[in-house]
Amino acid sequence: MAEQNLSYILNHLGEDRDSYFQAVSPPVIQSSNFYFKTVDDLRQDISDELANRIYTRGNNPTTEILRKKLAALESAEDALVFASGIAAVAAAVLAFVKQGAHIVSVGSVYSWTTRLFKEYLPRFGVETSFVDGRDLVKIEEAIRPETSILYLESPTTMLFELQDLRSCAMIARKHGLISMIDNSCCSPIYQRPIELGINLSIHSVTKFLNGHSDVVMGAVCGSKELINHIFNTEFINIGGIVSPHDAALVIRGLRTLPLRVDRSYQSALKIVEFLHQQSRVLQVNYPFHAQHPQYDLAVRQMEGQPGLFSVLFKANSINEMEDFVHRLNYFLIAVSWGGHESLVMPVCAFHGGPTGQDSPLPWNLVRFYIGLEDPELLIEDIRQAMEALPA
Ligand SMILES: *Cc1c(COP(=O)(O)O)cnc(C)c1O
Repeated sequence: MAEQNLSYILNHLGEDRDSYFQAVSPPVIQSSNFYFKTVDDLRQDISDELANRIYTRGNNPTTEILRKKLAALESAEDALVFASGIAAVAAAVLAFVKQGAHIVSVGSVYSWTTRLFKEYLPRFGVETSFVDGRDLVKIEEAIRPETSILYLESPTTMLFELQDLRSCAMIARKHGLISMIDNSCCSPIYQRPIELGINLSIHSVTKFLNGHSDVVMGAVCGSKELINHIFNTEFINIGGIVSPHDAALVIRGLRTLPLRVDRSYQSALKIVEFLHQQSRVLQVNYPFHAQHPQYDLAVRQMEGQPGLFSVLFKANSINEMEDFVHRLNYFLIAVSWGGHESLVMPVCAFHGGPTGQDSPLPWNLVRFYIGLEDPELLIEDIRQAMEALPA
């Protein structure tokens, strides 16, 4: 995206400062309701709840500023924001299925998305086939006459596998499917799927877009027509909206988005390079490194990749993995990512738990999120913690 355009979007787009006392930062319009001077004004405006200001479940002026910025970042015509990323995923999917419909999804998508497809939607007669998203032939073969959605997540957020987005968009168009992607991992700074022909780009705004680990939010971006459809069905009827205060926090978070993702990306390049040279490391799942099997595709459709990747370590036992993680001083053990602070999520935490169900992912896999700290400090931290593992 042109630097000039990005600067305009993040600092000015949607901000009508003269309408609120020339304040530089937009006000939090903490009002559930908006009044009308005449009956006819209400009569006119109620016909379009998305475009007009009637009730905050439909539209709110603070939230509208955020929607405009998110849509522009994704090269989309419009965007809706939701109370969480998974609310955004669920609304986008539900809006384009009916009883008996079928979905083709790439495998190993975000855990709660998997649950939506495997456990929730079958209650309404909607079935999902999971395919290896690296294989375009398998994707096309899985499409049936009743298929209505092609669901993508690229990179996937545990194994970091990519799908060829331009080709997936063409396959979807050929078969009359709505294509949608969870674009949380790259952020629109490094990947804009709508420019490649994908219909809807979905975000967990919780992650990079807010970036400060203090808001849970989701977004769906797309054409006016598709966004209007989602608005009139799942959005306004299920009502998983955001508070105007959270919208203002995310507008603030967005001001520094390019700086934050660039810092995370630059640090990741150094840390991944370091990890590739370690005898205690078996594999690094980070497509934006020349040794990754999908590097060529990564460079073709992404402009960078922020610091989220997973590492398979040489280890003899879960105890050794736990010891490694406990020795880290600058990585908090936590789910989520995209904030200022570095995190580590060891898959061994999902083995041997109270449910007795082990993760399908290997216990010696660890996901790292690289925050805004000094990369040399983080490398030193990983180096000293690796002494817990066999050389
Ligand atoms: C976190 C996450 C979500 C869900 O977002 P929430 O804001 O936590 O509901 C969806 N997709 C991906 C890839 C995520 O990492």
